[in-house]
Amino acid sequence: MDIGSITTAAYIVASLFFILSLAGLSKHETSRNGLVYGMIGMAIALVATGVLVIDVTTDLDDGWIPIVLMLGAVVMGAVIGLWRARIVEMTGMPELIAALHSFVGLAAVLIGWNGHLEGSHHTLESLNNIHEAEVSIGIFIGAITFSGSIVANLKLSARMKSAPLMLPGKNLINVGSLVAFAILTVVYVAGDRASTAQDFVLVVLTTLALALGWHLVASIGGGDMPVVVSMLNSYSGWAAAASGFLLNNDLLIVTGALVGSSGAYLSYIMCKAMNRSFISVIAGGFGIEAGPSDDTDYGDYREIQADAAAELLARASSVVITPGYGMAVAQAQYPVAELTAKLRARGVDVRFGIHPVAGRLPGHMNVLLAEAKVPYDIVLEMDEINDDFPDTDVVLVIGANDTVNPAADEDPGSPIAGMPVLKVWNAKDVIVFKRSMAAGYAGVQNPLFFRDNSQMLFGDAKDRVEDIVRALGSDEVVTPAGARR
Ligand code: NDP
Repeated sequence: MDIGSITTAAYIVASLFFILSLAGLSKHETSRNGLVYGMIGMAIALVATGVLVIDVTTDLDDGWIPIVLMLGAVVMGAVIGLWRARIVEMTGMPELIAALHSFVGLAAVLIGWNGHLEGSHHTLESLNNIHEAEVSIGIFIGAITFSGSIVANLKLSARMKSAPLMLPGKNLINVGSLVAFAILTVVYVAGDRASTAQDFVLVVLTTLALALGWHLVASIGGGDMPVVVSMLNSYSGWAAAASGFLLNNDLLIVTGALVGSSGAYLSYIMCKAMNRSFISVIAGGFGIEAGPSDDTDYGDYREIQADAAAELLARASSVVITPGYGMAVAQAQYPVAELTAKLRARGVDVRFGIHPVAGRLPGHMNVLLAEAKVPYDIVLEMDEINDDFPDTDVVLVIGANDTVNPAADEDPGSPIAGMPVLKVWNAKDVIVFKRSMAAGYAGVQNPLFFRDNSQMLFGDAKDRVEDIVRALGSDEVVTPAGARR
């Protein structure tokens, strides 16, 4: 067996590991295994590719140069990747993921340009044309992914406003760009091979795709950003698959298609969960208009202190905790787990209600709660718990805002109108943990805070939950039966 056949076999094994990885990642219980499978698959892929490159280049003059370059790139990438992974906060993950997607896009653009500069030397003209179409498509998807991911990174890290960019005729710009891409591809494929005119067409095509990627993501507002993150994940997969065709690399094609289709499916699920049109979000907010600015006076809000909150909890028989981005910022999951254990030990029925886009990345809250060892069986999805709020004594909204905003349900003019939310306001008492009256990620005021049954518990969520845990441990707090403990 030659090295080529061994590498192909290794690629098939790596692909199987990637499929196992996706299967594992689809459930909390198996997600750790999913990650391990993914790491094994990637290790096999890297070693097989390394061996292939060494085999192909050792016979060439100066064949050591590509080997040194490849090893240098792998070592540099590994060092930077390990360093970033070690220092990244959980709340910084989405922006890091967006940055990583931009690298995939950039790689696809560079591979496309390399394919153009190298040219195609098939004897069959149709194969040369196919090569050129692959160059054009690869560069187009790659450039959209690259610039779109940079905008996503800037928006997620709050270095760019999360409000949607509303250029006049934005839908026309998007559709017009797609038509222009199709025309440029035909001109590029039909043009004289290796001519300056062909170079020029490709420069225009790359610039157009960069501008389109920027515009697509800039046009999407704060509340819809979760879908953008998974959509860019999908684009990065298709960009990798396009590179796979250019490089004749089966593993890249398979892996790219896996990432592309699973990302597209995740975007679809998230759109359904948020009651958004999938097509309108992937088309850069197609058909979504800016909502009116919110200057409604909702009245006064009430404040509560940790001791009183502990009293309320001790008297409750059912409690639902709805965590959000603020719990992640405060790293409050550990005291929240402690509070849960304490209340359950007192016989209180404690459950969690998780909104599909709570936090800043899909599954964000589930990961944090699993990290703090909250039992899986009391962590419920939004649809599983939404009907139970009228029978709930106390809801603790810990650092959540947009995901518990009644305006989404009741105000058709709200920018988040139609997005399903956790209907916490139906419970007897609601305690909202946050530091101020500031709006959530979507920049929309939350009328929940001004409801008669809501009380604000201001301060860092971790500190306030710890205060409650302490108060529950003290002699001052009554038991559900009314006797002092
Ligand atoms: P939000 O982002 O709407 O609100 C979080 C709240 O947490 C803020 O109002 C903030 O208020 C509070 N907060 C921040 N830090 C602390 C702290 N240390 N202690 C206590 N409170 C704190 O959160 P949700 O989870 O409800 O909603 C997620 C939003 O993010 C949605 O709009 C979603 O569309 C979007 N999004 C989600 C993604 C995903 O994939 N899940 C990806 C990208 C965006 P204050 O400053 O007053 O403390």
